[in-house]
Amino acid sequence: MQQFTKPVIGITSSIVSHNTIKSLNVHERFIRTVIQAGGVPIVIPNGTDDMPETWMSMCDGLILSSGEDVDPNSYLENPDPQLQKTNVNRDNTEIALVHCAEEQKKPIFAVCRGITLLNAALGGTVIQDIGTWFPQAIQHYQLAERYEATHDIQIESGSWLQKITNSTGIRVNSHHHQAINKLASGLKVTAKTPDGMIEAVESSDAAAVPLFMGVQWHPEAMARVNPTMLELFKSFVMKCTNT
Ligand code: MN
Repeated sequence: MQQFTKPVIGITSSIVSHNTIKSLNVHERFIRTVIQAGGVPIVIPNGTDDMPETWMSMCDGLILSSGEDVDPNSYLENPDPQLQKTNVNRDNTEIALVHCAEEQKKPIFAVCRGITLLNAALGGTVIQDIGTWFPQAIQHYQLAERYEATHDIQIESGSWLQKITNSTGIRVNSHHHQAINKLASGLKVTAKTPDGMIEAVESSDAAAVPLFMGVQWHPEAMARVNPTMLELFKSFVMKCTNT
């Protein structure tokens, strides 16, 4: 009998206070969208140094999910006054997961905070607060519904993102006050906003679907109303199946 095992997709998580009790938190849209895309989601908590390698061995791919600001310790800077809540344990866990994924050649899809964390893990830096550093920037923290697209991005021709969206310009949602500053080596920029913020990256390997993909917006929140955003997850899950 032929057996087909769906790829296991690890999803990182944050800590929030729920009824005054510290609790694990993942936006449920990540879980739903991974299932819709054909993967089997499991949630990865924060842990100690000995755990990420085991977790990554259990998974076929990794989603770096949204949440806290990236701790500037992760890219050797001091905190700006506008820096919001950070969680150094989460950063350490996720940075180790990125290195294990790299070693084990397992795909990463990095979303929102995830794209800045991925960049920091690979040696880049983060704009700690867009409003402080770039007062002329367009609005990146929308008040509209989470799934609504609010700003334009320009997409690089020939990129994975361009192939999946079949477009060089789309509108996406925006729920961030941080962004990539100095790009890490090994990554290339594949989309920007008109104000010059980096909105998407891919690893610079030559594969049709790159090993690492990152977007600054929330495709999991848009996927419910926008089939193209689900296609991003489907392509990622397919890559995890084949790796
Ligand atoms: Mn944005």
